[in-house]
Amino acid sequence: MSEFYSVSMSGGKDSTALALWMREQGLPHVRIFADTGWESPVTYAYLDYLEERLGPIERLKPKESFTQRLLRLGTWPARSRRWCTKDLKVYPIRDWMDDFRLPEGYTSLVNVVGIRAEESAKRATFREREWSDDTHCYVWRPLLRWSLADVLQIHRRHGVKVNPLYQQGFERVGCFPCIYAGKLEIRLLAEEYQERIDVIRDLERATGNTMFALRRPGSDEHIPTPIDDAVIWSKTVHGGTQLTLVRAPSGCARWGLCETAPKDGEDV
Ligand code: SF4
Repeated sequence: MSEFYSVSMSGGKDSTALALWMREQGLPHVRIFADTGWESPVTYAYLDYLEERLGPIERLKPKESFTQRLLRLGTWPARSRRWCTKDLKVYPIRDWMDDFRLPEGYTSLVNVVGIRAEESAKRATFREREWSDDTHCYVWRPLLRWSLADVLQIHRRHGVKVNPLYQQGFERVGCFPCIYAGKLEIRLLAEEYQERIDVIRDLERATGNTMFALRRPGSDEHIPTPIDDAVIWSKTVHGGTQLTLVRAPSGCARWGLCETAPKDGEDV
């Protein structure tokens, strides 16, 4: 059996390391990026930079962008109705896979993702290779046992910089922000990208819903929290009776579509 590979790119360090490694290994592949339209401008610019270094990255667009779908549905994605991952990433990838015409001589298409076991206890349980009903193909995770040092080393070896968002303090790259963004990310967003906070505020007003819900420590009570209040909270110190952001599983992580799943939380 002769395999051809699609490399899922997110603009994050792990998927970039994966793309570098695939090229290093001489494995036949194309690079794809599921574009929600809700990424950071920095990430879009970084993808352009990677294209100059590595070659084309196919941008897969959903039928509706994040904001178009949000405004039509009138509700933000959340733990109980997380339409973002499937509608904006998994289904566009599945459709692209279904339509993909294998080059002559190849018999199957395998989706390759840059998941690493050390990122979380849950990811440590992932298999290196498994069938995905979501994308109708096998998924391969060749970086599963890689360390962060390995990831950075391959960037250095090829003279490729990491996404500048990391240097600004962001820990993960993906939707900007992800509905599961942490305290640090919201604070950085408010400090460095106030215009994004303004967009979220406008969308919250248009939908009558908040993007984030905070949870009282030791309770399952989730409190819808307007973005300006979430920003105030993000600047508070840890401890006391402060609220915490709701953490939830992220299929984006499992299929290597972004890096936004919490490092220490449950992610699938
Ligand atoms: S990164 Fe977050 S907001 Fe974006 S699709 Fe994944 S779970 Fe949804």
